[in-house]
Amino acid sequence: MTIDAKTELYGIIGNPVAHSLSPLMHNAAFAALGLNKAYVAFPVTDVAAALAGLKALGIRGVSVTIPHKQAVLPYLDTIDPVAAKIGAVNTLVVRDNALHGYNTDWLGANRALSEAMELKGSHVLLIGAGGSAKAIGFGLLEAGAKITVTNRTSDKAAALAAALGCAWVPLAEAAALRADALINATAVGMGPLAHEMVLPAVALANFPVVMDIVYAPLETRLLAAARATGCTVVDGLAMLLYQGAAQFELWTGMTAPLEVMRQTLLAHLPRP
Ligand code: NAP
Repeated sequence: MTIDAKTELYGIIGNPVAHSLSPLMHNAAFAALGLNKAYVAFPVTDVAAALAGLKALGIRGVSVTIPHKQAVLPYLDTIDPVAAKIGAVNTLVVRDNALHGYNTDWLGANRALSEAMELKGSHVLLIGAGGSAKAIGFGLLEAGAKITVTNRTSDKAAALAAALGCAWVPLAEAAALRADALINATAVGMGPLAHEMVLPAVALANFPVVMDIVYAPLETRLLAAARATGCTVVDGLAMLLYQGAAQFELWTGMTAPLEVMRQTLLAHLPRP
């Protein structure tokens, strides 16, 4: 792709950002559709200055990642209602010199899970109480699902359940639950926790659908055990892909080229 005087610029702001797969994914999508757009990574420490810079330079949109997903909120001109409930944005659209904030993590999670089951009226056990679990929880409520939250630290499970207006159980009791789906929204299954599982394998028969948002490795221990149990499994790549597709669609108004984006992610996923 030729970068010229008319190229429209997008990017990601966060710290660190050097590991991000978003530049590869979005640039592949722009190229596939022949769009004169480019996407780069901006390591940012001064959020206010960076946001002023987006407007000043005419940058069209950015992804927002850790640790700035909450810090950008006071600077936004509009915030999508679900993003406001979540209290975090991962996407900014810059339009008419104004900043518009969205959260596509919940859109990505809902789309990924909805490929395996009907969300409306379903019961989901949500494991985790961090930033991802919160976005997924509010997204499931939007879709009309009933949620039970559990987490290693019970106080955080209780706080998330209070915010969502749903039930919670201590992690030790979660294996006895039955629900239509289980979502692992914790770090268990990746990095130093790659050989661990959030629930014992014997409990997985209680959940016809098992989704893991960890994407490195793609086949976590949890998903391997769920597959062996006969559950329908949803891997973390699906949420990653669909949250990116929703960003692409917010920025361009065009349908995202999913297969190009999926293949780009698959080719560059970190090897655990
Ligand atoms: P976070 O805010 O730091 O929350 C971490 C969560 O993991 C907490 O619920 C924490 O429980 C739990 N946890 C950590 N270590 C644990 C352990 N040894 N045993 C049990 N629970 C443990 O992180 P996050 O941003 O929500 O991200 C969570 C995971 O989601 C990460 O692996 C990240 O890579 C992945 N992710 C995937 C996508 C995607 O698109 N697929 C998007 C975002 C994030 P405590 O409260 O007890 O500490």
